[in-house]
Amino acid sequence: MPLYVYEAREKDRSCAKCRDGFEIMQRLDEARLDHCPYCRSPVIRVIQAPGLTHSKTDLHYRAKRAGFHTLKKVQKGEYEKLY
Ligand SMILES: [Zn+2]
Repeated sequence: MPLYVYEAREKDRSCAKCRDGFEIMQRLDEARLDHCPYCRSPVIRVIQAPGLTHSKTDLHYRAKRAGFHTLKKVQKGEYEKLY
């Protein structure tokens, strides 16, 4: 299943999870998310290159979001409890 990254469209109305972006596994036939599953504020899908492994995507994403490492880790832990 492909891994998608979403982030808040309106950062000032978002929760800690979608403000920094969150990753979610979705089937190809699943509709893209319109709202954060945590706080229901609108989110946009961040385009990821196909074929990246989870860890590569995560590393890339962490690098891109340098400075949010601790927060990102908490989010990822919470995200993984969902599945
Ligand atoms: Zn949210």
